[in-house]
Amino acid sequence: MTYKVITKKDYPKFFIVLEKILKKSNIETPRMKLEKDDKHFNVKSSMIPFSNSITYTSRAWKIFNDKERIAVALHEIGHINSKFRILIYLSFFILFLLTSIISFYFSLSVFFTILLFLVFLRFPFMAIISYISQVYEFKADKFSKEKYNKKYLKSAIKKTLNEKFHPNLRIIYLLLVKPFCIHPSIKERIYKLDLDC
Ligand SMILES: [Zn+2]
Repeated sequence: MTYKVITKKDYPKFFIVLEKILKKSNIETPRMKLEKDDKHFNVKSSMIPFSNSITYTSRAWKIFNDKERIAVALHEIGHINSKFRILIYLSFFILFLLTSIISFYFSLSVFFTILLFLVFLRFPFMAIISYISQVYEFKADKFSKEKYNKKYLKSAIKKTLNEKFHPNLRIIYLLLVKPFCIHPSIKERIYKLDLDC
């Protein structure tokens, strides 16, 4: 997918407000990227250390208004500023270490080592990742709420649900996707946003 880096020149309203909010907390504005993708509705922050960036797909960028773009950017900056990534890297490291120890102890062949890694350790590992992700998703929401009016994040979250899952597909989402989703539900997120803690 091709992307372009967007700047204050392209979207002054968005950048001026966001930079002002971040300046108060001494946080540098990450690089903002727009991915040419009119199919997927996504906003993500980079997982690469020391290369902070936030990427919006062109579809998400178009559907959000300026205030929602800011609220969502703050949510992603909440992720960047958290220990989320370190915990994910650490979990990966532990997983590798554990596989190597078991493989060495039982003198497993390469095939069984890979199988062990993929099948046996993947599930408990994914459960841990899923739990960590949920905790940090709420933390990122909280970060956005502390810095900007929460009503914009709320409307952005609602738009995300509508865009990602057509009403007719919502039942499929609830039955098949949600139980395996690493993100908490939209309802849970909105409920927590309304709690004044
Ligand atoms: Zn998030």
